[in-house]
Amino acid sequence: MLAKTSEDVQNQIVNVVKDFIKKDVDPIASTYEQEDIYPHELIPTMKELGLFGITIPEEYGGMGLDFTTFAKIFEEISKGWMSLSGIIGTHHILSHVISTYGTEEQKNRMLPKMATGEIRGALALTEPEAGSDTQNISTVAIKDGEEYVINGRKMYISNGEHGNAFALMAKTDPDASPKHRGISCFIFEKPTEGFKVGQHLDKLGYRGIDTCELIFDNCRVPADNLIGGVEGKGFGQVMNGLETGRINVAARAVGVAQAALDAAISYSQQRKTFGQPISQHQAIQLKLADMATKVHAARLMVYDAAAKKDSGLRNDMEASMAKLFASEICGEVAMEAMRVHGGAGYIKDLPVERYYRDAPLMIIGEGTNEIMKLLIARRILERNQI
Ligand SMILES: Cc1cc2nc3c(=O)[nH]c(=O)nc-3n(C[C@H](O)[C@H](O)[C@H](O)COP(=O)(O)OP(=O)(O)OC[C@H]3O[C@@H](n4cnc5c(N)ncnc54)[C@H](O)[C@@H]3O)c2cc1C
Repeated sequence: MLAKTSEDVQNQIVNVVKDFIKKDVDPIASTYEQEDIYPHELIPTMKELGLFGITIPEEYGGMGLDFTTFAKIFEEISKGWMSLSGIIGTHHILSHVISTYGTEEQKNRMLPKMATGEIRGALALTEPEAGSDTQNISTVAIKDGEEYVINGRKMYISNGEHGNAFALMAKTDPDASPKHRGISCFIFEKPTEGFKVGQHLDKLGYRGIDTCELIFDNCRVPADNLIGGVEGKGFGQVMNGLETGRINVAARAVGVAQAALDAAISYSQQRKTFGQPISQHQAIQLKLADMATKVHAARLMVYDAAAKKDSGLRNDMEASMAKLFASEICGEVAMEAMRVHGGAGYIKDLPVERYYRDAPLMIIGEGTNEIMKLLIARRILERNQI
């Protein structure tokens, strides 16, 4: 449970992030995204601003902010350029898993360096044959003395190239039943012999940041890197980490949707047809009203899920609902913003087409929305048994 961040501190931090986006990110976002350029030069400022340590406890060198502030930060970054939020997205899943479940030695070794961004984290869960069906992973970690030997392949791993530590999910007991009892989570650090980054995936949106295949060929990892020191706990550890990931993805969706809405509002007041700004046509006003209402509702759901996480309560249902709703409305709002722009919305000169290409990542990533619905239904039925 994180202590609530005061409103003053929250506003101060959000304003600092806004300034960073305006000054350093807005001028380059469209070009870098279209040309798939990694924003190396923004990393030192992101480190200085403490963005790699926002939820890491202060005793380990982080800022110890609550998840409501965390959500606001992701929203602001994504208004400017959603890809940039990916650099710190899965980093915070690794830091959360270590803070919550790591041994004292693991916390002391990893968290201070993660807080400064010297160690940059990622989540290595998905495999070519295991995305939604997480428990079907086939990467194995077999104990050999004081080490584990890792073999397998991961797919779609954000920060796979530029991150240097992963929360790596592997089976320590491939025959366990139920399957999740055989899954463990390791801190995997680069460089390790036998590890290499495979394909770099060419994406529709979310461009500029690395999403890769990872190959583990007889990689040896110290047994001390088993998170929490006990085998078979990895599934639950990472599912808890994904609750924070879903808040981050939902907040990204709110940021992209807000940016699309802002662009539509501004364009509608400048573009004239039939002798008046299109904002004076009722059909456009109805669109703007619907978009603004949906963005507002999504934002409230994200803050509600974040507040529940802050209170220390399980929030898998609320985080899934927020992620489901915010990402779906983000897709709708991005499309509507494009329509408000007419032909100009389809051309790469304006960021509206980028919002439209970025939106599906939030629908698919961190668990697809179909899986979110299954999870929500499971919880509703559990809570309402007759
Ligand atoms: C750009 C990008 C970045 C990513 N970053 C990461 C990362 O950093 N780390 C990581 O580990 N993973 C990452 N992922 C992986 C992502 O989480 C998975 O792609 C996602 O969970 C879906 O898995 P899948 O692609 O295997 O689809 P599948 O599981 O094959 O699903 C295909 C379709 O079937 C549906 N479906 C599957 N099972 C069911 C069911 N039981 N009931 C109803 N519908 C179902 C799905 O909703 C989907 O519509 C990333 C993906 C992308 C595209």
